[in-house]
Amino acid sequence: MSRKNIVAGNWKMNLDLKSGHKLTQEICKADRDSNVQVILAVPFIHLSEVGAVSRYSSTISLAAQNVHFESNGAFTGEISSAMLKSTGAEYVLIGHSERRTLFNESNDVIKKKVDAALAKGLKVIFCCGESLEVRKKKRQNTFVKGQIVKGLFHLTPKQFKNVIIAYEPIWAIGTGETASPEQAQEMHAYIRKQIEAKYEGQGSKTSILYGGSVKPDNAKELFAQQDIDGGLVGGASLKAKTFVPIINAFK
Ligand code: PEP
Repeated sequence: MSRKNIVAGNWKMNLDLKSGHKLTQEICKADRDSNVQVILAVPFIHLSEVGAVSRYSSTISLAAQNVHFESNGAFTGEISSAMLKSTGAEYVLIGHSERRTLFNESNDVIKKKVDAALAKGLKVIFCCGESLEVRKKKRQNTFVKGQIVKGLFHLTPKQFKNVIIAYEPIWAIGTGETASPEQAQEMHAYIRKQIEAKYEGQGSKTSILYGGSVKPDNAKELFAQQDIDGGLVGGASLKAKTFVPIINAFK
């Protein structure tokens, strides 16, 4: 996977099937920057439907929001990588802060999910980011590096090529508070440096997205930063009228 401009929408646990279908149609039909890859991370039950609507658009890809690390078996309520693949999903979000905090996903579990997803040919959108407490102590770099090292740095260089990073400071998710373009750029440059140190030549090839209250009115400034390749968008991805301007914010 080469570095590209990406806007991913994370619908979280929102929208019923009918509204998800309608939103996908609106995004497909919208006047969009064709150089931007759009990824829709939708609830499991929407995958087939959203995939059916978007499959004629090469710039729209499908993602799941979670995956189980086992390949099959008695895991009531869980979904495997192979199942996701069979719906047409190309990507999966792993390590979102809501999974880490609300569902107690440890770095070890996240690592297993990364391995399971890559083994079945899914691409991983790996989320990382510090809490306000960590940032106040100025320990954000060490903290984020720890998440990346524990979740990803066991991968071979070939496997790592199928990873996108999403830096999402927890204090900016769903709070209306955004990291300043400078704060985000600083962390993205730091992450890129760590990737380059571990996987020579890969630093400049990895897409690193920013997430945390991205909106039409702040996307342009964020995406203009040298090391920010786009966004992972929660709230503003639920309406075409807020999501499409974010997709078009690179120009
Ligand atoms: C997210 O959930 O990944 C996210 C960034 O949410 P929001 O844009 O609503 O802050």
